[in-house]
Amino acid sequence: MAAKERTLSIIKPDATRRNLTGKINARFEDNGLRIIAQKRLWLTEEQAKKFYDVHKDRPFYGELVNFMISGPVVVQVLEGDDAVALNRKVMGATNLANADEGTIRKDFAESIEANSVHGSDSLDNAAREIRFFFSETEVVG
Ligand code: ATP
Ligand code: MG
Repeated sequence: MAAKERTLSIIKPDATRRNLTGKINARFEDNGLRIIAQKRLWLTEEQAKKFYDVHKDRPFYGELVNFMISGPVVVQVLEGDDAVALNRKVMGATNLANADEGTIRKDFAESIEANSVHGSDSLDNAAREIRFFFSETEVVG
């Protein structure tokens, strides 16, 4: 039986700029993910650097941080059966050139960097990333 999980999602600045928050949220809901917490934030450079610390040695780190602070983001907790893997499937591949038909990135991404959404890549990272943005009382299920 599938386990009920929670994962951290971010609607990135390229998507908020194009007013796609509602369209992206509909993709989550249509695929069985519940948005159980959500807020719109403009990340500081310090927050973006800390969030993407795992990528600090990658060549694209500096540009990625600059992109993530170029406009508001929507951070959200998604809940559902196998939510971590399910959300990655709904999002599609990092590079839109490799993303399957019907995925968020295939339909909305502008580039490999401006790819509209972030989703946690493991249950451990999901827990860590949810804690990064939300306090216990902000996630009511
Ligand atoms: P995310 O972590 O945002 O859900 P992901 O797990 O599919 O995406 P990662 O490899 O973790 O991809 O990369 C994090 C983010 O860094 C990507 O979503 C994208 O915005 C950016 N990125 C990844 N690879 C590149 C690249 N080669 N050039 C520029 N930006 C990149
Ligand atoms: Mg990742």
